[in-house]
Amino acid sequence: MRYQRSSALFDEAYQYIPGGVNSPVRAFKSVGGVPVFMKSAKGAYLTDADDNVYVDYINSWGPAILGHTHPEVLEELKIQAEKGFSFGAPTELETEIAKFITENVPNIDQIRMVSSGTEACMSAVRLARGFTGRDKIVKFEGCYHGHSDSFLIKAGSGAATFGNPNSPGVTAGTAKDTLLARYNDFEQVEELFKQNPGEIAGIIIEPVAGNMGCVLPENDFLQKLRILCDENGSLLIFDEVMTGFRLAFGGAQELFNVKADLVTYGKVIGGGLPVGAFAGRNEIMDHLAPKGGVYQAGTLSGNPLAMRAGLKTLQLIKNDFEFFNRLEETTEVLDIEIGKILTEKGIHHTINRKGSMMSVFFDTDKVSDFDDAQKANHYTFNKFFHHMLENGIYLPPSGYETYFISDAIRDEEINMTLDAVRTF
Ligand code: PMP
Repeated sequence: MRYQRSSALFDEAYQYIPGGVNSPVRAFKSVGGVPVFMKSAKGAYLTDADDNVYVDYINSWGPAILGHTHPEVLEELKIQAEKGFSFGAPTELETEIAKFITENVPNIDQIRMVSSGTEACMSAVRLARGFTGRDKIVKFEGCYHGHSDSFLIKAGSGAATFGNPNSPGVTAGTAKDTLLARYNDFEQVEELFKQNPGEIAGIIIEPVAGNMGCVLPENDFLQKLRILCDENGSLLIFDEVMTGFRLAFGGAQELFNVKADLVTYGKVIGGGLPVGAFAGRNEIMDHLAPKGGVYQAGTLSGNPLAMRAGLKTLQLIKNDFEFFNRLEETTEVLDIEIGKILTEKGIHHTINRKGSMMSVFFDTDKVSDFDDAQKANHYTFNKFFHHMLENGIYLPPSGYETYFISDAIRDEEINMTLDAVRTF
């Protein structure tokens, strides 16, 4: 049996770990079947516990943009491990990565490292509230900003996958400070500002959403939000946990030429180790402890192993002038060719893509917001997912996620992928 060992491992894990996994989407609950347990990864490929090999389109949900276990990143980790795993004291390395990032990303003066995207977004919102002296935030249906309480209201990603976008345990008090709008619906956001004058600390948004599948901003949506925030003294927070260092080195800020007041990062910034970060202009970041009063801290923040992996990954990306073009070309070929094959087969679908993020939605012509994403045919999605998995292609196990294309995916892997689509 193809997944025999994975199946046994899942049964055992189920006894000791809630639901058998340490992050819900890994359980394959919405697509059904046995979650595949991985044992190693190299370049474009993952190997599971039964020795099945897959072309990886998840790439650890984004961090492995260079492909897995890049030799130069591995070397840096070995060197650092010899020197020490964690000091809980400042290191020169932290300044080096902060300097490198602030010099190469538009519009940020200072950056604070944390250990996950959740922490980054939670802290950015606290800072926005502390800076403006206001309580409310605007978030969009289907966007996911980690599992901090304020964000688990009509959240995307795993929360949407399991049909529970509003989590039990989030108090009514917290929920009342999170105002919701439809993605791409500027008028609704304007209306929220009219109804809550002088009360909105900021808007948090995935500038290209990846947590209701890949959904793009339309009709100058981001530009309009920028102006609205300026008019109302609110901060615009770009959650670039997925898009940062992926759509461009300077993320969505650079790609769309829209300035955010605060930006959150994760995934690529840690090169596969647990890292998040948030950044902004001096006048805002100066409000953070220990300089300012807004408290935020972390035992393992700026961890030297994580900083080494992150810095090396970012340097490799930055020094390769063709990097983002190549990723985009790979993704474009996948988009066009998968689209052609599905059309030839008479399978109604639409593909959304930006840079190296993309999603295939079935039985729909357009997906611009969470409602559209929910209306897509998730039954066909699940069949497609399992067909690809059986054929050695590892796609995200939910219709509310995006593919993350890595630089290790080249012609051979594209051809393997298209061959698998042909037999669907
Ligand atoms: N923001 C976005 C846009 C994300 O996609 C995610 C995770 N997928 C997060 C925040 C939370 O990051 P983490 O899982 O590292 O806490």
